Amino acid sequence: MAEKNQTDRRTLLKLSAGAVAIGATGGIGGLNAAHASPEETRSSTGSRKPKNIIFMVADGMSIGVPTLAERFSHLTRNRGTVWRRLAGEDRTVHGLVDMAALDSLVPDSAASSCMWATGVPIRNGMINMHEDGRILTPIGHLAKRTGRALGLVTTTRVTHATPAGFAAQVPSRALEDTIAEQYIGEVDILLGGGRRHFVNRRGVDVTDLTALYWQQGYVFAGTRDELRNLRSPNRIVGLFDDSHLPYTIDHMRDPALVRKVPTLAEMTEVALRSLEKRRDGFLLQVEGGRVDHAAHANDAAALMHDQMAFDDAIDVVMRFVERHPDTLVIMTTDHGNANPGLNGMGSRYRASTESFARLVGVKESFGSIYDRINRAMEQAGEELDTGAMQRVLRSATGIELNNAEADQFRRAFYNEPYEEANNQHTNLHGLLGQLLGNHTGVQFTGVTHTADWVLSMAVGPGAEHFQGMMTAAGIYDRMTDLMNIRHRNRPDRSQREDRRRGVR
Ligand SMILES: [Zn+2]
Repeated sequence: MAEKNQTDRRTLLKLSAGAVAIGATGGIGGLNAAHASPEETRSSTGSRKPKNIIFMVADGMSIGVPTLAERFSHLTRNRGTVWRRLAGEDRTVHGLVDMAALDSLVPDSAASSCMWATGVPIRNGMINMHEDGRILTPIGHLAKRTGRALGLVTTTRVTHATPAGFAAQVPSRALEDTIAEQYIGEVDILLGGGRRHFVNRRGVDVTDLTALYWQQGYVFAGTRDELRNLRSPNRIVGLFDDSHLPYTIDHMRDPALVRKVPTLAEMTEVALRSLEKRRDGFLLQVEGGRVDHAAHANDAAALMHDQMAFDDAIDVVMRFVERHPDTLVIMTTDHGNANPGLNGMGSRYRASTESFARLVGVKESFGSIYDRINRAMEQAGEELDTGAMQRVLRSATGIELNNAEADQFRRAFYNEPYEEANNQHTNLHGLLGQLLGNHTGVQFTGVTHTADWVLSMAVGPGAEHFQGMMTAAGIYDRMTDLMNIRHRNRPDRSQREDRRRGVR
């Protein structure tokens, strides 16, 4: 297995070096296009072009999430969300984005991010490659070649699909070791999780990438304090967990984690402090990546807390925009996920609002609740009975499941048969999500991504181009037009005729 990985990696590095040649011989061109000073240029419609672009992604943010987040924000922070405030401002341009992948109406994060980054439909699971092995040039590389800096900030592993889509080229999103190598020299600011793909790597010839990054002038940070004490070097790798950063709901409750791991807003601030010095501007992707994971888990409270963390990052970005009005900000998501929504509860739905407020009492993520159950089992020296299960869930969530609910959960927890008609929900988190949803009113359609068109908002120079119905690939066209980049990637063979959905 190890040997196979090595071969794969070598082949890939070679392939990746060949990518430029493919573009050049294909006559697609545009890479050498003169890079006019952003302040002086105007697009065909006469609007000003941005110097910087900040692309913000709340991964897996279903269309109903901002509604729930607004209420949750009032309940927990005594104020509304920045998202909602911006949504009501004259300067904000609203869009809807059709995110269908090349091979499925339901996209994954790899296809979504790559479609934004290349302007052509892509298959799920692949990072800037077509099935026939042809490699596409992502917007991150184009930004670099036109003198801009590139930053990727996320709460997932930095090698995860959404950040990778802007700056890597591999046939599978799972090749995160390779992605970590491909970032060297291409991405200036890398902040998030995923340390395991940089140091103590297994099954690859280079087990530690630190020296390779150092050679290219990167400064490393491994804790929140180290990150905050940096003197804004041009190149930063900040990795704060071996895998993904913790869910915000668990992060904030644990003083050790608070000391070790920065928030998305803090990472965004550090990234912007470094990037603002770049004379030729920058492209920065900021991802609230665990919104998606909480949706997969049907964990409504974890979802709300991570959406709050994303909202705090928007706040940081909008403060930056006040000082740097030559910045275009795009806020969107890569797909819906499990589509949470608040249902009508009680007579004339009068119980909905108060039911939703119960979510505030949930103090930990489902993963943390499962750990708690396992600890209680160890203490008791036996499996928990229904009453004990009820008590553990009550102390973790503040919600009192009735006997039937607690018993159903107990059976699912111990892999005993239980009734469930929706196959999507035939799993422990799908079930727990529904049981708690009986009390909070928030229910999910399933545990996977959905096909829904997604929300987008844009603010700043060029924002007017992001109005109305768009495709994921059309986002690339707009961004590159605004960046004076003329490079166009070739669509997959099956897509040669033209864009099939009629909107760009
Ligand atoms: Zn997902």
